[in-house]
Amino acid sequence: MSGENTNWAERSNAVFIGTYARYPAAMVKGEGCKLTDAEGREYLDCLAGIAVCSLGHCHPVVTEAICKQAHELVHVSNLYYTQPQTELGELLTAHSFADRIFLANSGAEANEAAFKLARICAGPERYGIISLAGSFHGRTLATVAATGQPKLHEGFEPMPEGFSHAPFGNLNVLEAMITDQTCAILCEPLQGEGGVRPLDVEYLQGLQDLCRKHDLLLIFDEIQTGIGRTGTLFAYEQLGVVPDIMTVAKALGNGLPVGAMLTRKEIAAAFVPGTHGSTFGGNPVAAAAGVATIKIMLEDGFLPEVRAKGEYLQAGLEGLVARFPALAEGARGMGLIRGLVLTEKGVAQGGDMVNKMFARGVLINFAGNAALRFLPPLIISREEIDQLLAALAEVLAECE
Ligand SMILES: *Cc1c(COP(=O)(O)O)cnc(C)c1O
Repeated sequence: MSGENTNWAERSNAVFIGTYARYPAAMVKGEGCKLTDAEGREYLDCLAGIAVCSLGHCHPVVTEAICKQAHELVHVSNLYYTQPQTELGELLTAHSFADRIFLANSGAEANEAAFKLARICAGPERYGIISLAGSFHGRTLATVAATGQPKLHEGFEPMPEGFSHAPFGNLNVLEAMITDQTCAILCEPLQGEGGVRPLDVEYLQGLQDLCRKHDLLLIFDEIQTGIGRTGTLFAYEQLGVVPDIMTVAKALGNGLPVGAMLTRKEIAAAFVPGTHGSTFGGNPVAAAAGVATIKIMLEDGFLPEVRAKGEYLQAGLEGLVARFPALAEGARGMGLIRGLVLTEKGVAQGGDMVNKMFARGVLINFAGNAALRFLPPLIISREEIDQLLAALAEVLAECE
């Protein structure tokens, strides 16, 4: 149409509530690890829509599953059974510790379900959930209350009751915070938004011991670490600690909105008809995308390859650490969630480094005011990892 204003940024900014500071690009197409904007510029996407498009953009098998389902049945609500939802539930329970599942539409909703289940399971007067400083659990009122970042609470107080935050990595302080009201401990096995900060195995083991000793539920928020990101379907598999409740979302539908809360049937029994629900949860199209996504990740060799490429990326990042003083704090992560930790001086340049990468056509971000974060599609090639590393080396040299 002649005369149509195609400045999407300008049109968007004129109508959208300003919750996002966006980069100056309107994306029009995605394929694999590549994104193309409205001006025809190409980007190497090392964020994958924030750990969502793990099979790459528009994976043909997932797209076909979506299209096929969209022709058959798009929505019926949870008043009826559907095939895609059934299959997704079977797949996730068959390949995890869990034998019961609830489907939601996002990570925050999966966490809300986990909080409600933990509370109703514990019985009256036991509602307290202890999470960790630096954590991220979502943006709804309850999940933001669980989030251990005071700046995300500011202006929204009073926060919903029952959430407290223990200092990162200190079991004694956490144990001292447990009261008769406490019902659960909540953590991410590796803090994503908090700056790609792993929790060590002894600490996680300690959390599990505390849960057993004080009769608490252990909730793992695997919304960012789950669904193949760390090189196993769930991060807990590599950590030797099995949670009582686990939440996943982000990569589950490879871009379609779907989240899940998983648990064991003894715990799940506290939810009965009427105690919880969702109009869209387990929507057939989103569930079909989830089934296709999980099946591909379970194919022979897929997850080992994620671990191998994770090691390859880590080795490359360590090479940069050795060359640039701003990276003296090192590189960390699991599988293909990796972070380059900036020194105090480097932190001031974090945003600038991300912008310089953007200018070179490589998408990364700066997480937790601490680390440059890399969350590429899990199908990224070694050549594409080399491209990322080369661009980083240029940008770091420029910022010296
Ligand atoms: C992204 C994220 C959430 C929130 O998920 P939404 O889908 O944005 O609601 C919760 N926890 C963790 C660890 C996340 O990374």
